[in-house]
Amino acid sequence: MKTLSVIIPCYDEEPVIDTTYRRIKTVLDSMRLISSQMIFINDGSRDKTLDILSDIAQKDRAVKIINFSRNFGHQAAVTAGIHHCTSDFAVIIDADLQDPPELIPELLAKQAEEQANVVYCVRKKRTGESKFKLWAAKRFYRTLNKVSEVNFPLDTGDFRLIDSQIIEQFKRFKERGKYIRGLISWVGFKQVPFYYEREARFAGETKYPLKKMLSFATTALFYFSKKPLLMATSLGFTTVIIGIFMALWYLFGKIFGYTNAESGWTSIMIIVIFFGGIQLLTIGVLGQYIGILFDEVKERPEYIVKDLVNWE
Ligand code: UDP
Ligand code: MG
Repeated sequence: MKTLSVIIPCYDEEPVIDTTYRRIKTVLDSMRLISSQMIFINDGSRDKTLDILSDIAQKDRAVKIINFSRNFGHQAAVTAGIHHCTSDFAVIIDADLQDPPELIPELLAKQAEEQANVVYCVRKKRTGESKFKLWAAKRFYRTLNKVSEVNFPLDTGDFRLIDSQIIEQFKRFKERGKYIRGLISWVGFKQVPFYYEREARFAGETKYPLKKMLSFATTALFYFSKKPLLMATSLGFTTVIIGIFMALWYLFGKIFGYTNAESGWTSIMIIVIFFGGIQLLTIGVLGQYIGILFDEVKERPEYIVKDLVNWE
């Protein structure tokens, strides 16, 4: 007998939110739990998501709402959910029903069977997703694994079950740029996979346009890897070696007369462009890390809660 929280980040989910609530409710009611609650985080929705949630919360005390002052992003929303969670277990799930809530009892069963601290859901199949997104996600997770200091499970989203030990450890993370699935892997303890088929979005459209996808990928890469800095160093080193050989070639050419100094315009342009590019690239890599330092030292809160509904 356990207590369970379901954490559901919501941003403009008006067309699905009621169905999501009812499907999760049915699942929770069918389970043998001491108590359960649903934590909906309204991440600055511009539609009627909050109104619908407030209506539900009035009738159902087990529905808790964390209402943000504006849109802070998916990862901040999930973070707020975990911060407010005090139960034995939490399940993180998207509001759009791509991750079937009906799997929650199976996740708990898997947890009990393996005595695991984390049961992370691995997508065997993803339907209703653009070819580009599938390709980009596949490349991204594999590249990240190669360059990061942690070994992440592949094809895994935030849909997972975590226990109180993980919840407590997660609350200690001070960094504001959160790549949650990575941080949970990083924590360690016993983490086991659960294979499932990811469905298409129930209604509405994706809240992850290319811009958000890129920012998400950037956080994951630069927060979990120092390899780009190392690559900048090796790139600089390589070009210095090339530069030395070229300098010698031109110097001896001048002395022994096998190069024609007057006709050197093309080679100079090529060298200027090449080295200019490499310099800008490495400055850009440095800039990414400085930008992250800049954001982190400000120690701004990760999210601002406007109000809490049904929290004692
Ligand atoms: N979401 C959020 N804030 C955002 C963007 C998304 O809380 O700024 C929520 C969204 O409501 C959904 C989950 O995060 O519950 C995943 O978003 P979505 O399904 O649009 O992403 P996709 O599945 O297309 O990658
Ligand atoms: Mg989705």
